[in-house]
Amino acid sequence: MKRHIKILKKKLRNFNQKINEECGVFGISNAKDASALTALGLHALQHRGQEGCGIVSFDGNHYFSEKRFGLVGDNFNKEKVLKRLKGNYAIGHNRYSTTGENTLRNIQPFFADTNAGGIGVAHNGNLTNSILLRNKLVEEGAIFYTTSDTETIVQLIAKSKRKKTIDKIIDAIFQIQGGYALVMLTQNSLIGVRDPYGIRPLIIGKLNNSYVLASETCALDIIGAKFIREVENGEIVFIENDKLISVKPFSPRKIRPCVFEYIYFSRPDSILNGKSAYEHRKNFGIELAKENNLKADIVVPVPDSGNAAALGFAQHLGMKFELGLIRNHYVGRTFIEPSQKIRSLGVKLKLNANQSTIKGKKIILIDDSLVRGTTSHKIIKMLYDAGAKEVHMKIACPEIKFPDFYGVDTPTKKELLAANKTNNEICEYIGAKSLNFLTLNGLYKAVGFDKRNDNYPQLTDHYFTGDYPVKPVDELGDNKVTQLSLLNTGYNN
Ligand code: AMP
Repeated sequence: MKRHIKILKKKLRNFNQKINEECGVFGISNAKDASALTALGLHALQHRGQEGCGIVSFDGNHYFSEKRFGLVGDNFNKEKVLKRLKGNYAIGHNRYSTTGENTLRNIQPFFADTNAGGIGVAHNGNLTNSILLRNKLVEEGAIFYTTSDTETIVQLIAKSKRKKTIDKIIDAIFQIQGGYALVMLTQNSLIGVRDPYGIRPLIIGKLNNSYVLASETCALDIIGAKFIREVENGEIVFIENDKLISVKPFSPRKIRPCVFEYIYFSRPDSILNGKSAYEHRKNFGIELAKENNLKADIVVPVPDSGNAAALGFAQHLGMKFELGLIRNHYVGRTFIEPSQKIRSLGVKLKLNANQSTIKGKKIILIDDSLVRGTTSHKIIKMLYDAGAKEVHMKIACPEIKFPDFYGVDTPTKKELLAANKTNNEICEYIGAKSLNFLTLNGLYKAVGFDKRNDNYPQLTDHYFTGDYPVKPVDELGDNKVTQLSLLNTGYNN
């Protein structure tokens, strides 16, 4: 029985952790082609999730919903589909998840009827106490239709005894913990919510008289909207027609956005704290060069994740930058593959050595991060097989030693290479001649923060430090788990 509970607990934890990772959210108010603009916004945010996408719109009387597996461009490219999504208000979601539960019912936005009217919810992030909340709700008689922690938020809103939607939402967000950026659609408003530490990103833009909410600024650029500001940490914004009302229900806390948005996740042209992610990443490369000024024949990036850092590194040291690896652009991100075996295959499918540039060369190979080491291991072998003389690996972030629970897909501590091996052991495992990581100091310098500042840490950087701003309650607790018996067939709405 004990073992049975343990297995169920692991299962539910996996479900809860894997469902809302790294998603992209978008919403627009008061716009004639709201659903088409949402489809464009989601297309710009496609890198945040490629597994499924959905749009919910509202025309003043009715809500409309379309959800699909796969890419936005393949699914929301037809007038027929967009025409069904009527109304001047719309929200959308790109979903990323890895294993299991690849069913249509888990694709967002979710929709529910509450006693204050209909509500659509799109969520990026991961709740750290959703098992606890879900169990409580189930004990009280709630029926769950999905395995997603987003449904927990919807249930909490629906269950609130308060009358006004805003109060219901406040009721719900006081109970949830973790990293979250929510975009919601009610009968009279578009709503954005960002978690108390601002771990997950959410920004506000304007297109004529329309307000736009999105995960990243690149979603504004595509529709010609202007960037206004970030939704602040712990802020709720209510948008009705062309008015925006800000509510801050939490006691003030300093903002600590997720460092991985800077390192890997955001699109290079998106703005983070006043600078493009591209500039930040180039600066990581510059700091890396200052810390390790080894000379070699060429600097080669792991495309595309290492491009900006490698460019910064090479420019700083006046070294030659070469494309020693060529990427096949018709393969998704490596991590999308659900198993370690397939993931290993994924690297081969995606990259090939560019023999003409690397043969006989001493190479500095640069990537943004090293997680399991799968990518580096394969690529270094590929470079040596293609005739490289020496391959020195440099990673443009510190050693990842701690897993994430706020919505980025990092594996368990057991699988994190740097959590279990010394630098020399990792170097041997990946087959490099030498290996260096950017220091945490260097990372903070590159972003323009100072580690000695009173305000430190300015980022959620637990990956390197183990400093989790929000306690991962479900991970630490011993919650009895409600049995899940989901029918794995999906549904059509
Ligand atoms: P690994 O091969 O396991 O060492 O992972 C490192 C590679 O995966 C690097 O090329 C990164 O750009 C990429 N990567 C790092 N973190 C993530 C993530 N959370 N999701 C998808 N890809 C990632």
